[in-house]
Amino acid sequence: MNRDSAVLVFLELGSDNAVLPVSLECITAGRKLADALQGWLFGLIMGSSVGGAADHARHCGLDRLYTLDCPLLGVYHPETYCPAFLRACDETNPHFILMGDTLASADLAPRAAFALDTGLITDCVGFEADRSGVCFIKPVYSSNVMAAYTMKTKPYLVTIRSGTEDPAQRQHDKGAEVVALAVEIGESTLMVEVLERVLDEQEGPRLTSSSIIVSGGRGVGGPEGFAVLRELARVLNAAVGASRPPVDLGWVPPKAQVGQTGEKVGPSVYVAIGISGATQHLAGMSASRTIVAINKDPAANIFKVADYGVVGNQEQVVPAFTEVLKEILP
Ligand SMILES: Cc1cc2nc3c(=O)[nH]c(=O)nc-3n(C[C@H](O)[C@H](O)[C@H](O)COP(=O)(O)OP(=O)(O)OC[C@H]3O[C@@H](n4cnc5c(N)ncnc54)[C@H](O)[C@@H]3O)c2cc1C
Repeated sequence: MNRDSAVLVFLELGSDNAVLPVSLECITAGRKLADALQGWLFGLIMGSSVGGAADHARHCGLDRLYTLDCPLLGVYHPETYCPAFLRACDETNPHFILMGDTLASADLAPRAAFALDTGLITDCVGFEADRSGVCFIKPVYSSNVMAAYTMKTKPYLVTIRSGTEDPAQRQHDKGAEVVALAVEIGESTLMVEVLERVLDEQEGPRLTSSSIIVSGGRGVGGPEGFAVLRELARVLNAAVGASRPPVDLGWVPPKAQVGQTGEKVGPSVYVAIGISGATQHLAGMSASRTIVAINKDPAANIFKVADYGVVGNQEQVVPAFTEVLKEILP
C-alpha cells in the first residue's frame, strides 16, 4: 500500500444522522481510485453521536475510518466543520479528498481548498487514472462537453455528483479500524450565530437522493396535470421534478426544478413528461442511467437522449401507464 496515495472520503451525515447516499457513492469512487493507485482508502465522519453512522460505514469497504464526535458538529457550521476537517486532513495527509456535491460541501470544499492552499474540482462524474496521473471528469457548457481536469497542487479536492456511482453497500466483514480524533472547537470561537433552522417539509422521496424521478414540463398543462404525475410518482415511489416553466408558472415549488439553474440529478430512471429537452434542462438530468420520454412531438429534442420514448398526449399516456403499473407492481 502506498500511503502517499491515500484517498480520504468525507462522509456527510443527513438530518437522521445516517451517511448520505452520495457519500456512500464517494466510497465506491474512492475505492476504485485507491485500488488504481494502490493507496489507502480512509473515511471521515464528523458530527454529534456518530456511533451508528460509523458502525455502518466501517463495513462499507474502507481501510480505516476516522471520526470526529462533538456536539458542536451536530449540524453543519463553517466555523466548526472547517477546523475539524483540517484536523482530519492533518492526521491522514491524503493525496485525494472526495466529497459529495452537496449544499454543505459547496461551503466547506472552497474553505478547505483555501486553507490547504490547493485547487478544487467540483461536480465530477468520473475519473481516469494512468501512469501520467489522474484526471477528473466533469460536464461543462450545459453538459454538452465533458472536460478532464488535473491539478498541480496536492491534495486533490474533488466533489462528486450524486448518481455517479452505486452507493457502497454494507459488507459482512470484520470492518475497518475506527480512529477517534479530537479537535478543540468551542462556542467562544464562533463569529456566526445560527438563530433558527427551518426544515423543508418533504412529501415523498427527495429529488437528489431518489432512484426514480418523474418530471413534468410545460406540456403537463397545469397544477392539475402535476396531480396526475404525483400519482404516477407515488406508485413508483419516485420523487417529482420539473423543468423551469412549471416552476416559473407556480405549478410546483422551486425546489422541484431540474437543470442548469436547478438540481443536478442522476437517478436510475428519469421519466420526462411534456418536456422538450432544452440544453438547460438536459444539463441537470442527462447523467440519469435510463431516460423515458413522453411527448406528443416526435421531433422533440428529449427523444435524442431518451432510452425509451412514447410519442403521445401525456393526458392519455400517463393515467394509462399508472394503471398498468398499479396492476403489476406489488
Ligand atoms: C439561463 C437559463 C437557465 C435555465 N435553466 C433551466 C433549468 O435549470 N431547467 C430547465 O428545465 N430549464 C431551464 N431554462 C429554460 C430552458 O431554456 C427551456 O425554456 C425549458 O427547459 C423548457 O421547458 P419545457 O421543456 O417544460 O417547455 P417547452 O420547451 O415549452 O416544451 C414543452 C414540451 O411539451 C410537449 N407537450 C405539450 N403538450 C403535450 C401533451 N399534452 N402531451 C405530451 N407532450 C406535450 C411539447 O411537444 C414540448 O416538447 C433556462 C433558461 C435559461 C436562459
